[in-house]
Amino acid sequence: MIVIVSNRVPEDRVSEIIHYIEKHDLSTHVSRGEDRTVIGIIGKADPMVAEHLRQMKDVEQVVKITKSYKLASRDFHPLDTVIDIKGVKIGGAELTVMGGPCAVESPKQIDEIARLVKMAGGQVLRGGAFKPRTGPYSFQGIGVEGLEMMAEAGQKHGLLTITEVMTPEYVDVCAKYADILQVGTRNMQNFDLLRKLGTIQTPVLLKRGFSATYDEFLNAAEYILAGGNPNVMLCERGIRTFETYTRNTLDLAAIPVLQNLSHLPVISDPSHGTGRRELVEPMAKASVAAGANGLIIEMHTDPDNSMTGDGVQSLFPDQFAQLLQDLEKLAPIVGKNFQTAKEPILAGSWAI
Ligand code: PEP
Ligand code: MN
Repeated sequence: MIVIVSNRVPEDRVSEIIHYIEKHDLSTHVSRGEDRTVIGIIGKADPMVAEHLRQMKDVEQVVKITKSYKLASRDFHPLDTVIDIKGVKIGGAELTVMGGPCAVESPKQIDEIARLVKMAGGQVLRGGAFKPRTGPYSFQGIGVEGLEMMAEAGQKHGLLTITEVMTPEYVDVCAKYADILQVGTRNMQNFDLLRKLGTIQTPVLLKRGFSATYDEFLNAAEYILAGGNPNVMLCERGIRTFETYTRNTLDLAAIPVLQNLSHLPVISDPSHGTGRRELVEPMAKASVAAGANGLIIEMHTDPDNSMTGDGVQSLFPDQFAQLLQDLEKLAPIVGKNFQTAKEPILAGSWAI
């Protein structure tokens, strides 16, 4: 249930309404918009309490929310959430680009890719140190050493960093080194992991499970929010369909759907969403046109020899840079702010 109060109502009156709600063993979540304040009620309110609230002076409306997720919903929180990480804003009118390899492989590899992400105008360096591989014999990532290498590269080149965390036990060490923690598609409903991420304040990029409905996805985000971490981004990364030509089917409609249902920033991953290099650029542009708040893109200096199988979907550095330049032109047309570094990256000009 939400209680809507006009912003003309004095603050102490709003506090009285909140006090009345909390007296009945309910908790509240307050969201202040431009014209109205929304008091979200968490817990099941007695019909008598609901009726009393309806009759209260200064209460504009009492609306029953039937959705199972509350804190993630736009009903509870009408304005877009904008997450500020060391001055980089994610959400609202900002367009954020995260780029980098599937996995951190060596200090030289991650340092060179970080340099190229920065030169192209990206704001966040991606790279996995713990990889969720389908088979147990595949390369599993280089672990904590990889986190150290990526943190160093990020700092040196002035980029934020994002890395995947797979288990609750590794949340603290990953949060020590990275600015954003990624929950992979295979762990979207790893509830112990989500609960643990709710206990910290480090921003989380939650990837949609490859068979998850929007409702399941938003409920997964709700676990993190309900634990007390408000810094959650949603990531559409493709879902499993009958099509085999592409690795996954990037659900472009998920972008506006999630933005209608939720206030959280929506990031698109056209790399895992298609699994094919030639489709990354058009799907990245389509995602921005559909309103995405950001992109997470795999880029590698030597994709043919990358240590995971994701080289086939990784852009070369010059393709990544060209895409960002194009996005700079597209962004204002769809109401987004984005600026590239405008430094050309010539084909083959990077170290391997
Ligand atoms: C990744 O980002 O490299 C990754 C494994 O993503 P996903 O969980 O979407 O497959
Ligand atoms: Mn990958």
